[in-house]
Amino acid sequence: MDKYLQRLAGIYKAIDAAYNEALRYYNFTCNDCTDNCCVTKFHHHTLIEEYYLAEGFRKLDEDKKRAIIDRAKDVVGIHNSSAEDVRVMCPLNETGLCILYEYRPMICRIHGVPYELFRNMRLEYGEGCYRFITEKTDMEKTCKIKRTGFYFDIAMLEKEVREKLGFSGRCKKTTAEMILDIVRRL
Ligand code: SF4
Repeated sequence: MDKYLQRLAGIYKAIDAAYNEALRYYNFTCNDCTDNCCVTKFHHHTLIEEYYLAEGFRKLDEDKKRAIIDRAKDVVGIHNSSAEDVRVMCPLNETGLCILYEYRPMICRIHGVPYELFRNMRLEYGEGCYRFITEKTDMEKTCKIKRTGFYFDIAMLEKEVREKLGFSGRCKKTTAEMILDIVRRL
């Protein structure tokens, strides 16, 4: 799995560079944001990102792992018994910070600033997160993260990983669900 994880690290590095460029362009920061996006119920769709997250999780001490597992169970319970748009803190967030920041999935890296994405035969545009939209009303949104290439690269990598693992199922998980599946595999 190492070579796949290294390739994903390379894609993440390119995403982080594009994201940081956008932050500089708009002079935008996530610091002191009261609308923490870690309470958003994001779904993740790739096994390779789960394996990457697992790399970070394995390195944590046992107490930390147990605390995350307990929170992940609580979060899954709340998600399962609430409306789809329920907002509950990700089990990996502790005192406002992501414990596995270096290993966080793509959407956690790329969310917040304007983007363009070609899918379903058309170009989609995203305006950015709530804070971005409300703070940057007077700026032209000329700097857009081009998500298409990143999505494509991860999809190609995922295809190889699935062939290698003989997995053909559907993957749609919150971070809490990923954590519980990582624990099952340990
Ligand atoms: S994985 Fe990290 S960055 Fe992503 S939602 Fe969870 S705490 Fe936030």
